[in-house]
Amino acid sequence: MEVVLAETAGFCMGVDLALRRLDKLVIAAAGQPLYNLGPIIHNPQVLKKYAEQGVIIVDAPEDVPDGACVVIRAHGITRQVEASLRARNVVIKDATCPRVKKAQLLIGRHTQDGQELLLYGEEDHPEVKGLVSYAGNGHFVFGSEEELDGYELSKDKSYVLAAQTTQDRVLFDVMAKRLSDDPELDVTVLETICDATKLRQKEASELADEVDFMIVIGGYNSGNTRRLAQVVAERGTPCCHVETVAELSLSDLAQYRKIGVTAGASTPRILIDEVLDALKGL
Ligand code: SF4
Repeated sequence: MEVVLAETAGFCMGVDLALRRLDKLVIAAAGQPLYNLGPIIHNPQVLKKYAEQGVIIVDAPEDVPDGACVVIRAHGITRQVEASLRARNVVIKDATCPRVKKAQLLIGRHTQDGQELLLYGEEDHPEVKGLVSYAGNGHFVFGSEEELDGYELSKDKSYVLAAQTTQDRVLFDVMAKRLSDDPELDVTVLETICDATKLRQKEASELADEVDFMIVIGGYNSGNTRRLAQVVAERGTPCCHVETVAELSLSDLAQYRKIGVTAGASTPRILIDEVLDALKGL
């Protein structure tokens, strides 16, 4: 049996940086509790490890006790939540991905003179909530071209168009061109998309065409991992999405000649290696 591991499998830069930061803070805390506002990443095995090391996940800023240290996750938080933490006796360690931070600051700078933000993204996503909080003069979040079409734009206003970092660049560029080419509209387009997710999907799709079976590793609650499994399924290649090697039915896999393996941006290397080792055993 041949096993091919996708080059992009596993942590993206932002997740890697955030977890390295948290690892150092756990050591420095020496057993004292550390707080995370929301899970640092969407991977249950990683979160379990940190919980055992004294990391406590809270949903709201008021759940962080005075004097405690709170780590801001890779997706970032809203400007208001950050301000409420800064106003208290709380130590903030910011592990926001540099690309998300850049998008927040760009939106803040380009909407300070009255422009309205048009944001291509998922309204309920924590990153989107953070991004729109930097828009000084109102915002509209849309998830498709149709939704944007349904929103009435005024020629008497100025707009800033941006996207959640993980959105589809091709679709965004189509919408950006349409708005920019409209002589009646004043629209500034910001470059905020990160290619890490797209590259993973492209490679998974190409690998799916080469192999007899695909294994996608990552949290069931990880949106980008689920999307990888979906991309593979769309190619018509049989596939399974697992969180750990324990969920693989190895006897069923023995029938395949070539198996591809990929993993979401929040899947640690150790979980990928455990799957590779098990396949080697076949
Ligand atoms: Fe940062 Fe890109 Fe990873 Fe999102 S996908 S955390 S923007 S590197």
